Amino acid sequence: MSGWVTVAGLGPGSDALVTPEVSAALAEATDIVGYIPYVARVAARPGLRLHASDNRVEVERARHALELAAAGARVVIVSSGDPGVFAMASALFEALEAAPEHQALDVRVLPGITAMLAAAARAGAPLGHDFCAINLSDNLKPWALIEARLRAAAQADFACAFYNPRSRSRPEGFARVLELLRETCGGERLITFARAVSTPEEQLVTVTLAEATPEMADMRTVVLVGNSATRRVGRWVYTPRSA
Ligand code: SAH
Repeated sequence: MSGWVTVAGLGPGSDALVTPEVSAALAEATDIVGYIPYVARVAARPGLRLHASDNRVEVERARHALELAAAGARVVIVSSGDPGVFAMASALFEALEAAPEHQALDVRVLPGITAMLAAAARAGAPLGHDFCAINLSDNLKPWALIEARLRAAAQADFACAFYNPRSRSRPEGFARVLELLRETCGGERLITFARAVSTPEEQLVTVTLAEATPEMADMRTVVLVGNSATRRVGRWVYTPRSA
């Protein structure tokens, strides 16, 4: 049988949010490749090889997956959420770009429910009109670029979703983000901290930018900031369709 590589999103945490298409790919796989906590979410079964690796080795991991598939394995690379959102799909194509001998392989990308959409659904509809998603980690890009995009998004009155809000290498970064948002958007703007959405540890809190503190976010939190029209209705937060 010929091998293949599929990069699949496992959703934000709950098994109920794994798509049937992803479950089917996992059931057909001979090999699972991914970051340790994501591989741990795949049920072990006889004949299924698990290859868990540490953070920050994404391209090596993708190359390994391509090599396994070239040798006939059916490989699923797992990401949390959606594999195309700050995750393994781009790393796979980086590896493929550098390995022309693997470019004829059967490669597929299966979408998943990304953290910001799961979080927004819990809060109401804070991303109900135009929005931006920004990765606040400066592992792979300079901090100045993050600030420039943040400022542009805030000035254009986009609602925003922030992933990786507190990078271990730059713990002070998120404090700077809050400062910049307060300067551009004012203190009354709504901000939602959504932690471990769809898991037993889930926690959601919405405050104003004036009330927000850096400690409200950690690496399991996605942060949603409304635009100038985002408001509360009862216990919900929403952005009108006209905004
Ligand atoms: N591919 C993933 C994102 C990976 S980056 C996706 O589409 O969701 C990792 C970041 O995603 C975390 O730092 C956090 O900001 C966010 N995240 C992932 N799962 C989450 C969850 N269950 N609840 C809240 N945020 C989550």
